[in-house]
Amino acid sequence: HDDGLIGISLNFLSQALPAFAIAGYLKKEYPGIKIIMGGGLVTSWIKGPGWKNSFKGLVDEMVTGPGEEYLRDLLNIRERAAHVRPQYDLSPGDQYISPGFILPYSASSGCYWQKCGFCPERAEGNPYRPVPPDTVLDDLSLLIEKHRPSMVHILDNAISPALLRHLIKRPLNAPWYGFVRITDHFKDKGFCLDLKRSGCTMLKIGIESGDQGVLDALDKGLDLTTASIVLKNLKEAGIATYLYFLFGTPPEGEKEARHTMEFVKRHIDYIGFMNLALFNMPLNHPDADRYNRNQFYEGDLSLYTSFEHPKGWGRAKVRAFLDNEFRRDPDIREVVKRNPPFFTSNHAAFFYPW
Ligand code: SF4
Repeated sequence: HDDGLIGISLNFLSQALPAFAIAGYLKKEYPGIKIIMGGGLVTSWIKGPGWKNSFKGLVDEMVTGPGEEYLRDLLNIRERAAHVRPQYDLSPGDQYISPGFILPYSASSGCYWQKCGFCPERAEGNPYRPVPPDTVLDDLSLLIEKHRPSMVHILDNAISPALLRHLIKRPLNAPWYGFVRITDHFKDKGFCLDLKRSGCTMLKIGIESGDQGVLDALDKGLDLTTASIVLKNLKEAGIATYLYFLFGTPPEGEKEARHTMEFVKRHIDYIGFMNLALFNMPLNHPDADRYNRNQFYEGDLSLYTSFEHPKGWGRAKVRAFLDNEFRRDPDIREVVKRNPPFFTSNHAAFFYPW
């Protein structure tokens, strides 16, 4: 009806076409309806340089950041709750393509580290907002009891050590996985075994490079000697690892990329799954102009820009190295092949042990 209000959450570029198709359909069939769009991708677009709203007439308002406050104001709701437990009653959890229902839960927004060079999270200056660990555990135990998920996905950019300790104290009644940074806590094998007992089935970790100089230049706060110990401990504790490597960052040249390949080969027995990515320069990074950036193509809605690599280690060379050498190594190929077809890293835990 005339006062109808529809909110659409758009988080990933792959959702953009369906999201705008839904908006277009609604506007055509119900011209009086008001459409509001928000979500991670919309926030990044609006916070990016030179944002121009090209969707006027299709979307009435585009909103940055968490949408709850905005919707409350719009609907004249005066109560303010410090924390609201997520509701999954309306989501068709059993209709997603997945080996089982995964319950997603954000224990924080932003990132507690917030230092890595070229991280969009940092470039956008998104504040770190953690939910208190005891509240997280209260929420999760109620949600698990109600929805009986096959797994819990803790969606944080990096689960904080404080929350990991709480998970150990109050184990979940369902297996869980999520992203962590490598910290000294994991050097203690007892800590890794306790995490396993808490339900931890897989940890996703951004190692990015096997070259300490590159890691330091990127401010990853990651020490490769520690990483070696941690990967071994996690393997022995029975926790799968999903490692992310990033090639073609500005401080990396061919020599450093080869160090990454050597690191992977040295730790091949401790790596569960692997993601190999080519570096993209975030559009709104303050240093991006130093690298002669260019739009990938006109009207690009991507959050990234092309750039001239300072060491001549551009995308074509990186891609050739990955395709012709890295992925062809017999040991590495075996690990890469484990990535479950049709599914993403978010479902890999279902396929462990392989
Ligand atoms: S840990 Fe991840 S989210 Fe946090 S600053 Fe580094 S790359 Fe960004």
